[in-house]
Amino acid sequence: MPTTVKAFAAAAATSPLGPMDIQRRDPGPHDVVMDILYCGVCHSDIHTARNEWHGTTYPVVPGHELAGKVISVGASVKKFKVGDPVGVGCMVDSCGECENCKDGEEQFCMKGCRFTYNSLDQDGKSQTYGGYSTKVVVDEKFVLKMPANLPLDKAAPLLCAGITTYSPLRHWKVKAGDQVAVVGLGGLGHMGVKLAAAMGAEVTVLSTSDSKKDDALRLGAKHFLNTKKPETFQQNMGKFNFILNTVSAPLDVNSYLGLLKRNGSLVQVGAPSEPLPVATFNLIFGRKSYSGSLIGGVKETQEMLDFCGKHNITSDVEVIPMQKINEAYERMIKGDVKYRFVIDMASLK
Ligand code: NAP
Ligand code: ZN
Repeated sequence: MPTTVKAFAAAAATSPLGPMDIQRRDPGPHDVVMDILYCGVCHSDIHTARNEWHGTTYPVVPGHELAGKVISVGASVKKFKVGDPVGVGCMVDSCGECENCKDGEEQFCMKGCRFTYNSLDQDGKSQTYGGYSTKVVVDEKFVLKMPANLPLDKAAPLLCAGITTYSPLRHWKVKAGDQVAVVGLGGLGHMGVKLAAAMGAEVTVLSTSDSKKDDALRLGAKHFLNTKKPETFQQNMGKFNFILNTVSAPLDVNSYLGLLKRNGSLVQVGAPSEPLPVATFNLIFGRKSYSGSLIGGVKETQEMLDFCGKHNITSDVEVIPMQKINEAYERMIKGDVKYRFVIDMASLK
């Protein structure tokens, strides 16, 4: 029998989130049933709840940074037992057979991976509902082991903000001594700073908010530059090997390409819905690259969690009750969060 659980949902693009009862499927032999204790609040939750990417099916229950404990396991589950600290990120399933899945990059599943929310569920009819809820049922293949030394509230944001910044740093082989810039000091950005610094890079934060300078340095950056000042772009031309753009709004990509060294890469993880025009000469001169990156596969997510466990890296969080979610969205849009809201799901029980 499916179980009814409490959740918070948006009923339409313009309505605030509010309480809703949802169904979780009857767990099968490969499923883990997880008690969601904390769920991070990602800007993608806002893009989706407000239909800014034009693909939202309502009602939608956002949340893809789920951290909690196993409360039961199916008969064939091997990796987990009751009581284990676990996490679920942005995906809950994929075909497992295509080239990309076989390479451990389920986020690029050629049949389309099943996202934690706003995807079609296993039955092909109902929607997946995310982590703004008390329980979830997930195939063990998409459940992550949380490092025992990391508190679950501060570790929840690793499941999206952590992997989304870790994966491009690894893919583009950022190494000790590299000049790395992170654009936007929000949820993703502050994890990018911590992770790049832990990999030994010399990190610069490029931000619109001077008030974040002290935090940027505390989080591991060596330098802070205000992107509202034109001289930032004049005085730092050709400085960086790698720039990670985490900004949720459109910005002038061409000025950032000017900051790259020869052969440098500007990688987009921020996902505004508007196109961002690029002048070809800004790529041709200096053989520069402009690319994008989407979260990371399950194996790499576990690698990132283990890396964070080893280096004691967590997110700087402000824990809120579920009932404050609409206020939290407004504050995020104003850049008023240090640096990730995390919902304490006890407030929903
Ligand atoms: P967030 O916490 O709201 O942070 C975004 C940061 O961008 C802000 O703190 C601000 O930093 C900067 N910013 C915001 N509006 C700006 C504007 N108009 N102009 C310049 N800078 C601005 O958001 P997040 O949760 O980190 O997510 C960031 C983006 O990444 C979203 O678009 C989200 O959907 C996307 N995302 C992508 C993936 C992926 O797999 N590619 C995964 C997760 C999220 P400063 O104050 O420092 O300027
Ligand atoms: Zn996210």
